[in-house]
Amino acid sequence: MTTQQNPVLSVRDLSIYFDTRFGPLRAVDGITFDLAPGEILGMVGESGAGKSLTGTAITGLLERPGRIDRGEIHFEGQRIDTLSAEEMRRLRGRKIGAIFQDPLTSLNPLMTVGQQLIQTIRTHLKLGQAAARQRAIDFLAEVGIPAPEARVDQYPHQFSGGMRQRVVIALALCAKPSLVIADEPTTALDVSIQAQILDLLKKMCRDHGAAVILVTHDMGVIAETADRVAVMYSGRIVEIGLVEKVVRDPHHPYSSGLMQSIPRVGSGVERLTQIDGAMPQLTDLPGGCAFHPRCPRALSECKITQPTPVPVGSGQVACHLFQGETA
Ligand code: SF4
Repeated sequence: MTTQQNPVLSVRDLSIYFDTRFGPLRAVDGITFDLAPGEILGMVGESGAGKSLTGTAITGLLERPGRIDRGEIHFEGQRIDTLSAEEMRRLRGRKIGAIFQDPLTSLNPLMTVGQQLIQTIRTHLKLGQAAARQRAIDFLAEVGIPAPEARVDQYPHQFSGGMRQRVVIALALCAKPSLVIADEPTTALDVSIQAQILDLLKKMCRDHGAAVILVTHDMGVIAETADRVAVMYSGRIVEIGLVEKVVRDPHHPYSSGLMQSIPRVGSGVERLTQIDGAMPQLTDLPGGCAFHPRCPRALSECKITQPTPVPVGSGQVACHLFQGETA
């Protein structure tokens, strides 16, 4: 989904380094993308591709030795990568919601879920105690918690893993944010409830008008949930485009490999294709295109020159096979 509206989030040439005893290591390398209001952008890639770090930098939670080395992050027209920790903390609660893999990361075990929801609601919205409690109960009902009037006074340990993640979704959305960062929101959950939680996340964000960055290693999750997808490899976006286009007709050889790993019912394929090899370590990034040691279509120049993103169809691809193509 691309719209003519002003983007809710605009990331420009963002680079993140880690300062180590080996010297600075580049973990995210000059990524650029926009997010339209209400849009769901999937960020997909293997562990270490830089997708979670990008989400962490946007929420202002990047910790030393990680640091933003270059680039800008604009949220609702305001530059936010230069804000103080306190300014970012306020923005995070009110305008940017976060959902992590483990619901217990987001929940305080010593407070009832109601206390946590009411605290978030009252910190960011002008509501009295009774109105905030009612909003908390309404949100618990909306995310599918049975008997919310009773369960609002229970502690996180009294909920199952799936129910806890429902509470976290309520917590992320109860202060009316315009952006939610969801980092592997279903990876820790039982397979049987993953689809329900993804459907709920999608519905809640649509109903409340929040855009989403959905970070996952699972292309199947993106295919089911997102409007657009950014495929990341070794700290770069190698392809970005509409989900249905990238899934059906991926251009970058790495995207093609990822698409072949999505199980398709009735495809007759008994084994999922794997991409040979592993993503390079930050300490040992190859020259040129970082994917060249694993790429079945590598050209001689791929070892020497890093490809830049170019428009291909309605998306963008960073690969020498498409340099000079704008069709
Ligand atoms: Fe393969 Fe070369 Fe494209 Fe990299 S730039 S994905 S090595 S063809």
